[in-house]
Amino acid sequence: MGQCLICQNWVSEQPSLAQLLMMASIHAPVLCRSCQQRFIRIEGPTCPICGRQQTKTTVCHDCLRWQKEGSLPLVNQALYQYNGAMKQFMHQYKFLGDYRLRQAFSAEIQARIKQRAGAMIVPIPVTPKTERTRGFNQVLGLLGNLTTTAALETRHVDKAIPQSSKNRQQRLLTEQPFQLTAGADKLIRGNRIVVVDDVYTTGRTLHHAAHLLKQAGALTVTSMTLAR
Ligand SMILES: [Zn+2]
Ligand SMILES: [Zn+2]
Repeated sequence: MGQCLICQNWVSEQPSLAQLLMMASIHAPVLCRSCQQRFIRIEGPTCPICGRQQTKTTVCHDCLRWQKEGSLPLVNQALYQYNGAMKQFMHQYKFLGDYRLRQAFSAEIQARIKQRAGAMIVPIPVTPKTERTRGFNQVLGLLGNLTTTAALETRHVDKAIPQSSKNRQQRLLTEQPFQLTAGADKLIRGNRIVVVDDVYTTGRTLHHAAHLLKQAGALTVTSMTLAR
């Protein structure tokens, strides 16, 4: 018995019979039932590219925009809808720096990633400044003790030159928020990569990351996020 990480109420939940029969998958609940119920798992029809919950299985407007900009499709798998509860969760986890919250979804996201046997896991990095003030990288928090490859690091983006004065290639290059870490190209080449981030909003971050990894010779690049 412990306290819910979100509302601090006591969690007295007993494991179900099904959980008892699969001893390995038991972990004490860290959220109470009423907090859990506010998070909505993505199920049913989704955008076939980014994994957004929809009423149909057509390509969503964000993905159409990426197509129009000439970006290669990036297949993303997301676990939960980015609803009010999830936004509040991210606020408490990232901006208030409540590191305990990583436990709320880490088992689930790790189980999903383990299904991608043999894939190299590349987490989206945070800037050194963010890491200092927050004290952690929220993506690594979710990934727990899975083996990850720190292939990406943030780079300084020069915002001094107006975007309108650049062509698309220049824009992609100057907007690129990441660069490869030293020696990462050798690790990436020929590998299947799954890039992991906490939230997929417009997809910009993940598209930039995927672009860089493909350029470096990755065999395939897909992504996974906790929320979309
Ligand atoms: Zn609660
Ligand atoms: Zn989409």
